[in-house]
Amino acid sequence: MVQRTLAIVKPDAVAAGNTGNIIGLIEKNGFRILAMRMQHLKRAEAEGFYAVHKGKGFFEELIEFMTEGPVVLLALEREDAVAKWREVMGATDPAKAAEGTIRKLYGTNIGRNASHGSDSVENAATEVAWFFRGSELS
Ligand code: ATP
Ligand code: MG
Repeated sequence: MVQRTLAIVKPDAVAAGNTGNIIGLIEKNGFRILAMRMQHLKRAEAEGFYAVHKGKGFFEELIEFMTEGPVVLLALEREDAVAKWREVMGATDPAKAAEGTIRKLYGTNIGRNASHGSDSVENAATEVAWFFRGSELS
């Protein structure tokens, strides 16, 4: 089924100059970019986006990280986009990510792991709508 998913190039990857490499992998893997924007997230935006993790031990570290510099937000479309994007990203912990995946190539550790991807079709719809208006999705 054709699905949408939200991808984020996280602040570590933007700062390291890996935005272009990651967008290249997005295109190479057959995703259509529906919308794309660079943005320096405010604390409230990051906290709202990651509200599901509130109360976890790493929440504060996650918010500090996601607000330390600009990110690149992308709404993507493809057959099985949610699972496929998570496959291209690799495991949350770069040390456990498969060769050739974004987190293996560009991640540093479980916190600073270069990219985000929605984890379900339902959450993907919520996350795309969190950052993009319907009229911005081409
Ligand atoms: P994301 O939601 O960013 O795509 P994910 O779905 O693979 O990643 P989640 O469990 O949703 O992983 O965690 C969200 C993010 O929180 C991780 O990508 C990582 O940046 C951070 N994180 C998760 N677990 C830890 C941890 N144990 N220590 C530090 N940061 C963590
Ligand atoms: Mg997640």
